[in-house]
Amino acid sequence: MPTKYDAIIIGSGFGGCMTAYKLIGSGLKVLMLERGDWVQRGPENWEANQTLELTPQYDNTSALRVEAGGNKPLMGQYSCVGGPSVYYGGVSFRFRAADFNPPEDIIGDSGAQWPISYDDLEPFYDEAEKLLNISGESGVDPTEPHRNQAYPQKVGALAEVSVKVKQSAEKLGLKPFQLPLAINYHDHNRSTCQNCTTCDTFACAVSAKNDLATMIIPDLIEKGMELRPNCLVLSLERSGSRITEVKCIDKSTNQTITFQADKVILSGGALASPALLLSSGLDQNNRGGDLIGRYLMRHLNAIIFGIYPGAADKEKRFHKQIAILDYYFGHPSLKTNFTKIGSLQQIPTPNPGIVENEVKGILGKTLGKAVKLLTGLLAIAEDQPQYSNRLWVDSSKKDKYDLPQPVIFHQYSKRDKEALKLLINPAKKIINGTGALAHYVHHIRTFSHAVGTVRMGENPQTSVLDRNCQFRGLDNLWVVDGSFMPASAAVNPSLTIAANALRVGGEISEKK
Ligand SMILES: Cc1cc2nc3c(=O)[nH]c(=O)nc-3n(C[C@H](O)[C@H](O)[C@H](O)COP(=O)(O)OP(=O)(O)OC[C@H]3O[C@@H](n4cnc5c(N)ncnc54)[C@H](O)[C@@H]3O)c2cc1C
Ligand code: SF4
Repeated sequence: MPTKYDAIIIGSGFGGCMTAYKLIGSGLKVLMLERGDWVQRGPENWEANQTLELTPQYDNTSALRVEAGGNKPLMGQYSCVGGPSVYYGGVSFRFRAADFNPPEDIIGDSGAQWPISYDDLEPFYDEAEKLLNISGESGVDPTEPHRNQAYPQKVGALAEVSVKVKQSAEKLGLKPFQLPLAINYHDHNRSTCQNCTTCDTFACAVSAKNDLATMIIPDLIEKGMELRPNCLVLSLERSGSRITEVKCIDKSTNQTITFQADKVILSGGALASPALLLSSGLDQNNRGGDLIGRYLMRHLNAIIFGIYPGAADKEKRFHKQIAILDYYFGHPSLKTNFTKIGSLQQIPTPNPGIVENEVKGILGKTLGKAVKLLTGLLAIAEDQPQYSNRLWVDSSKKDKYDLPQPVIFHQYSKRDKEALKLLINPAKKIINGTGALAHYVHHIRTFSHAVGTVRMGENPQTSVLDRNCQFRGLDNLWVVDGSFMPASAAVNPSLTIAANALRVGGEISEKK
């Protein structure tokens, strides 16, 4: 007889792990299925080819076709235990309280509405920050939402280049502060941060980044969770109002396996989850037939690099440290009616490997050497949830697992572009004050902040999930990754995905 589980969780990213944390805590028997493998840690993670598409964890087997948006016609995805958290920048912001009630000029005719408020999530933000041991400083961020607990960890020391950015912003009358980061600076029971220059987009060689594979998954396994890496979920089989089987392929043996559980929790990320729902035919189930995959958001991001006369970061150390949120809800110096714009955060001197990933061959290697002259600020503008921006599946094209090809169409609105433009000028001023000779604005076209494709809401006509992320029309299916978000806010999404999963994880555990 095959093992019967209380719950199957698909995906080991933020949504999956935090839901698992609650279910395991309630004594449930949990199986987690993850399509990728563990990422090995060691000095090789510092190599220039251990980033983005150059790493073996960047999986192109079931590449997405990008019809609009993106920087390439075909796009793979990070696929590993812990999901992209292993490679992420660790920036761990709470959404602002007003993000849960976005203005009309962002929502437009999308019908997006948060069914929860900041207060509903606040205790779970506390819990997520504690679990991920976030370092941060409170009382200095001009848009900070109220918090009941202090950050669990103090911030790390600033690099010289970060001090310059901070001072330049202060001279302009702004209130810069240190980014909340999922990095271990002060817990000497494990490796602490070595301030290397390969953090964002690289796995941490010494496991000092507080990613899920380091901080959460080993503990869950110790407490009884069964993890199956290299196990790609192919379909969710339905009978009546229940998911009865989860069909997978074990990529290491090529064997097809099916699993059963009382509860099925999908957390494949905002691109993989709608693809699986659609290819499993679950769009027939509710009005979600026309909603699953729609309203894809990904922020509108650009890096404003300063070009310096010599090495921008003479110390050669980590310097993604400063945040500037003074423009988040508008600013007297900006001529606009928008009441919501976005955030600025420091971005380090790029590693040559990141350039070589983008520009292949000798040119990439030559440009790679020149990037030491750069450092800058990342501008993140909130993007609108638009019906036309979507992911769907093309059944006429199949991959080697016989899965239909996921297709993305994404175009930014006029408002999205105007919001980003408003952020670029102040970013240039701040960079000018740090001794830069000129600027270079690099537009980011990736989908690393994808959210919103299986959104939640109170209204069944405009949302696929209810307020507890239960899939309407099915009694035992929940979707807990970043797909659930009705709107994207303008700070990095992972902590909000984590907090929400802790919130709904409690509800799922109790549901009979
Ligand atoms: C380079 C990079 C840097 C980033 N930096 C930051 C940052 O600093 N701060 C921040 O907040 N956010 C950052 N992000 C974004 C952040 O990583 C995502 O928002 C977050 O990981 C999304 O969480 P999730 O739970 O929605 O899904 P994910 O974390 O994407 O997890 C989904 C998991 O499901 C697995 N999966 C998918 N389909 C299947 C299937 N069919 N079968 C089995 N397993 C499956 C995937 O392999 C993956 O492990 C970054 C992203 C990238 C790529
Ligand atoms: S900067 Fe610190 S946390 Fe980031 S990869 Fe280097 S050692 Fe790890």
